[in-house]
Amino acid sequence: MKPLPLSGQATAVAGMSNQTGRMVLRVRTVADGRGDIGTHDIALVRNMDDAASARASGFQAACLVGGGADLGNIFPQHIKLPGQFAYLGDGDIIGLQPHSRKLRVLYRRGSSHNAFLVTERCNHYCLMCSQPPRDIDDGWILDEIADALPLIDPTTRTIGFTGGEPLLEWRRFVALLDATRMLLPDTSVHVLTNGRGFASAEVVSAWAAVGHPQLCAGIPLYSSVSDIHDYVVQARDAFDETVLGILRMKDKAQRVEIRVVLHKITAPRLVETCTWIARNLPFVDHVALMGLENTGFALANQDALWIDPIDYKQDLATGVSILDSVGLAVSVYNLPLCLLDREIWRFAVQSISDWKNAYLPICDGCAVRSSCAGFFSTGRMRESVGLQAVADHYSMVSGST
Ligand code: SF4
Repeated sequence: MKPLPLSGQATAVAGMSNQTGRMVLRVRTVADGRGDIGTHDIALVRNMDDAASARASGFQAACLVGGGADLGNIFPQHIKLPGQFAYLGDGDIIGLQPHSRKLRVLYRRGSSHNAFLVTERCNHYCLMCSQPPRDIDDGWILDEIADALPLIDPTTRTIGFTGGEPLLEWRRFVALLDATRMLLPDTSVHVLTNGRGFASAEVVSAWAAVGHPQLCAGIPLYSSVSDIHDYVVQARDAFDETVLGILRMKDKAQRVEIRVVLHKITAPRLVETCTWIARNLPFVDHVALMGLENTGFALANQDALWIDPIDYKQDLATGVSILDSVGLAVSVYNLPLCLLDREIWRFAVQSISDWKNAYLPICDGCAVRSSCAGFFSTGRMRESVGLQAVADHYSMVSGST
């Protein structure tokens, strides 16, 4: 199981440079690019015939994937990418550093799981962080996203912003949300943030002033016990500030999702956590109870974190029913159906991003594979003893066989 490569290095970059040392490029197939070619557009070509057509169509630069052809005579400006990027298609966006030839795929038009990493910096140091924070000057990423936003297909249904902690540079980030609202008014925007920034009324006011009707903050809350939450995120007073932030956000009628990641420290208190959320925060918009992605710090700390989901199966079913009983929208993310009580199958979501979603050989004969979240292909997968192909079809809506 391997995730789709979203970063790498071009094998060649010719005639491409600018003063910032980085470029944002949208790849276009020749037919789709005809008559509508912007300065950021680059023709996606597979061979010399494609290149000749692209030149005739007016493209100034080309991107050759997985081939050894010499484009120099047709396109003095070009890049060549290794075959692992053969999945690139019309409208996809890449960020390129010409001098180092490093590139990242920022957006795939055909995907419903596009998320922009806003920063690698964070004021938490979560035990299971899948994107371990780095204390580096990466403010350029916000500029890169600002360059990419106008190139995104406006019919895109949803995009995410993640980190690190996006609110560390909240003024610049809110400006980015403003641009998103103007450029992509019909796109839902989901921001993963630890929520502590919302303890500031000034930040909440600025966020609310964005006025995007489909803007939601996904905020982790790992326990109703403040010390446990603070321990999981390795930050003193994090619980108090996070809860205050959630309250301030709801006071301004902003959309908030609470996220609870389940592992050996949080799962044993899951029923208590769900009860606390149901009693104290019943006005949030969504609660996601989430299986662990065994990568990043979760790998380093797996002795402290790994718990077989089958061991919290019953508590998860109870927690979901508690939240559901007070009218809260609740979902189960990242967990295979065969590890869930059938009573909560209707809450299970195929939540794992397409580029890192995979299934096991055992899944081939499973009746519910097409509805199952499957597994993360990142990191090192731990297999539950409870995995088993489901033999019978099952109504996901009614919750009955
Ligand atoms: S066997 Fe595979 S497809 Fe079937 S429920 Fe389990 S994990 Fe999902």
